Amino acid sequence: MTKRRSKKTLPIVEYPNDALRAKCTLTLPDTKYRRKIIEELFATMIKNGGVGLASPQVGYYFDLFVMQTQKDKFFQACYQPSIIYASKETSTEMEGCLSIPGVSRLVERPKKIVVSHLDGWTGNKVEGWLTDLDAHIFQHELDHLSGRLIIDHPEVKIDEEEYD
Ligand SMILES: [Zn+2]
Repeated sequence: MTKRRSKKTLPIVEYPNDALRAKCTLTLPDTKYRRKIIEELFATMIKNGGVGLASPQVGYYFDLFVMQTQKDKFFQACYQPSIIYASKETSTEMEGCLSIPGVSRLVERPKKIVVSHLDGWTGNKVEGWLTDLDAHIFQHELDHLSGRLIIDHPEVKIDEEEYD
């Protein structure tokens, strides 16, 4: 019997599909199955040139997303993720979403967050800081797990006079 690493990619669910509005609370206690889902999510994220992908974007309702940090290019599988601290200071970044092709939006979010999740591969608890773009990616993907999209965020208007 040959063993092959799964490189299966999945079709991306696009707005306005109702799947994107689901609350994703399903657990994945079977480690082997969880790793299979994570591999599918990473393969799909990479194929589509994304930096993050949440399970509802491929039609799953698991409490899980994957992301690649931009600071150190670390591939992170975040299972049962949450934010335990968010700074009052905010940062604004242009965000896109694989589920809303052609749309990007300036979104304002806390600049620094302390996050908690289980490492999807091992199930070990992880806690750590994320800042700026990496904080945005985590919060963007976490939003997906409660059915929130970038178009639900108030549009940040840049005062053009600031740049004169
Ligand atoms: Zn998205």
